Amino acid sequence: MADYRIVEKVSTPSSRDAPAGDDGVAGVPAPVADSFVHSRLLDSVAAFTHHRDIAALDHSLALSLAELTSARSVVLAKRAIDGAYVESIVRCVPDAQGTYQLRVDDPDRVDPALRLLHRCMHRLEVQMEWAQGIHRLVVPILRDGRAIGALQVDSDMPPAASRPLADGFARIYANYTGLLHESERDKLTGLYNRRSLERQLQRLLHQREQALHQAAVAGPEPHEQPGMPAAGPARVWLAILDIDHFKRINDNYGHIYGDEVILLLAQQMRACFRRSDVLFRFGGEEFVILFAATEQATVHTVLERFRQRIAGHVFPQVGSVTVSIGYAGVGCHDYPANVLDRADKALYFAKQHGRNGTYGYESLSASGLLGREMAAGSIDLF
Ligand code: GH3
Ligand code: MG
Ligand code: MG
Repeated sequence: MADYRIVEKVSTPSSRDAPAGDDGVAGVPAPVADSFVHSRLLDSVAAFTHHRDIAALDHSLALSLAELTSARSVVLAKRAIDGAYVESIVRCVPDAQGTYQLRVDDPDRVDPALRLLHRCMHRLEVQMEWAQGIHRLVVPILRDGRAIGALQVDSDMPPAASRPLADGFARIYANYTGLLHESERDKLTGLYNRRSLERQLQRLLHQREQALHQAAVAGPEPHEQPGMPAAGPARVWLAILDIDHFKRINDNYGHIYGDEVILLLAQQMRACFRRSDVLFRFGGEEFVILFAATEQATVHTVLERFRQRIAGHVFPQVGSVTVSIGYAGVGCHDYPANVLDRADKALYFAKQHGRNGTYGYESLSASGLLGREMAAGSIDLF
């Protein structure tokens, strides 16, 4: 069986000799003992295919590969959906105690250590290099004839030892993320769908909670106003965008043109927002944007710029199309439904006040414009 061959190659004679847990090479954990390898391999595959969240899957994959190959480092790079740029880089390296630690790197930073990895994705070929006693192996992650990413393994052992495992993981990863991708993307626009919004928002809320906890441990806790997003290192905001009078577009030009407007709007969103902003098609002609910003003024400016861009754009046949936008800050203990509800109230306000406008829930409620029942403080965000 293919799995058996993989195991045999990973367990080189030198790795067999090293007792488990002993640092055979400075800073690098000893290879996994033979008797554990089969079950370890199956455990790893079961563990990373258990994840429904792609970021968690990425971490699990990099960690499993590092552990099973006793690598000095493993890097998983992934390309954006259109393949134009590297979207994310996850790195797994052992710390001074030999315990593997995961790190998410900035994909925009130029890193000479990733030269071979870029070449691998460009040429769709395995790359190998030996320098200063370290063997570097890079395998492409291929789907439909294109590289959706690559895995880089730095090891003290020759590539023959880690290649079958890296190849196998790359194939499983490509197949499994293909399935996940289909389940979390909207077919028409390629943006994330509503189902993944709830999951991603929950994940962001969890991250925010952890960041605030760390900030609280490090220093005095910031004073937080009820009804306002918590102060701290990373504020998350949620905006809902709805096309104005979309029924008229369908009625006047037909559903095909309606769909075309939805598609073109999604393209405009991709072009206008940053890579780190997460874009969703929430429903028919409603979109959601999740993004981080420290100031509400910045959020407003970014959204207003997009609204104006759409208002000034000429859509084929249909001509002018406008959008209304409502947004709200996300609190640490928010439920997704609460955040959506606040942004939706701001959107509703926009619809009631001439459409083609951008409104923030916090500003509206602070000015008393949403009415008593929606006023700031009526919903406990924290
Ligand atoms: P408003 O300015 O108040 O948002 O007016 P509206 O006409 O856009 O009203 P509403 O948002 O309630 O209606 C959206 C319409 O979009 C209803 C539905 O017929 C249409 N729609 C929903 N999904 C799709 C889709 O996938 N394609 C097309 N072409 N139309 C859709
Ligand atoms: Mg709508
Ligand atoms: Mg609408």
